[in-house]
Amino acid sequence: MRIGVPKETVANERRVALTPDVAGRLVKSGSSVLVERGAGEAASFGDDAYGAAGATPVATAAQAFGQSDIVLKVQPPSAQEARLCREGSALVALFQPSAEREAVSQLAARTVTAFSLALLPRITRAQPMDVLSSQATVAGYKAVLLAAAATGRFFPMLVTAAGTLPPARVMVLGAGVAGLQAIATARRLGAVVSAFDVRAAVKEQVESLGAKFLELQVGEQAEAAGGYAKQLSEETHRRELAFLAQQVKDADIVITTAAIPGKRAPILITADAVRGMKPGAVIVDLAAETGGNCEVTKPGTEVRHNGVVVLGPLNLPSTLPLHASQMYARNISSFLLHVTRDGRLVVDFDDEIIRDTCVTHAGEVRKT
Ligand code: NAD
Repeated sequence: MRIGVPKETVANERRVALTPDVAGRLVKSGSSVLVERGAGEAASFGDDAYGAAGATPVATAAQAFGQSDIVLKVQPPSAQEARLCREGSALVALFQPSAEREAVSQLAARTVTAFSLALLPRITRAQPMDVLSSQATVAGYKAVLLAAAATGRFFPMLVTAAGTLPPARVMVLGAGVAGLQAIATARRLGAVVSAFDVRAAVKEQVESLGAKFLELQVGEQAEAAGGYAKQLSEETHRRELAFLAQQVKDADIVITTAAIPGKRAPILITADAVRGMKPGAVIVDLAAETGGNCEVTKPGTEVRHNGVVVLGPLNLPSTLPLHASQMYARNISSFLLHVTRDGRLVVDFDDEIIRDTCVTHAGEVRKT
């Protein structure tokens, strides 16, 4: 089987779908790996390292797409990339089909079997392939570093000859994969951390990381099938906003990560609540990509609102490209193992992982 790894073309994307280490393992198991020159450079994986692992360098994207049985990518395929795919080949990337309609119809037209890892079910069996979790781990970690760089305070308590400085008070809203990593990272830096989530099940996880869980009687079932949160009723959301407006008053740093699959991110901090915060407080809104958890967030930029700094970073995993790529490569190679037997693609729609992730197959669009 020939596996193609093109260079990512989206601006500011520094990750690569396969690292030399994982490429080497695939070569040892009998595949050829075609890597476009420079594909790993921004993640600090040079062409030489791929060559030493037994991969074959190719000069152009057209070769990486056109000569491969299966192409591995990080970012969604563009319509132009879809046209480069060989008829009947396969492609794996991370995308929402509804946001990539033109590319998806091109993939179907070229009878490409395309899989999106964004659609992977969050089941135990799929954990080794779970790029949503691995990349959210990176985002949660990096969010704390951004906050630490933007605040005028130390995170740990310091007792010095120049006086005693209290620890920073960090609040994390949404304690899924990114939120839990943010809690752990802020704790390691010595902050006093509290966290809130509508799913009561996370209380124990938050406390086991040494953070305080902020309790609000939600009074409705907030967890849907698959462990994701549901959208709250209007009344409960109103109570949540009032509760959080009180809580954020004491925080030096707020990191928000709340998301509802397939929907705009819920607002957790209104512009009024920001006005109630301390001058110099920092909000890092990890939900900026899906509209933001804070009413004043501007995706991709920094705003100041009444002395509060609000950051809305986009594509944080790309800012830690070496480890983000390493985790992504392990995830995607586990997926590859799952969809191939003896060097051939096996598309078994009785399998939940394949059924949920397959976007196009045999000329048909299966997920819109
Ligand atoms: P996510 O990115 O969809 O959401 C982040 C967090 O925001 C969630 O914890 C959610 O409960 C919370 N949230 C949503 N609306 C909120 C609101 N109004 N106020 C406060 N918080 C709100 O979540 P995720 O990190 O992708 O994790 C989703 C679920 O999947 C979790 O239960 C997680 O444990 C589970 N999971 C399972 C596996 C597996 O078994 N393979 C792997 C990873 C995650």
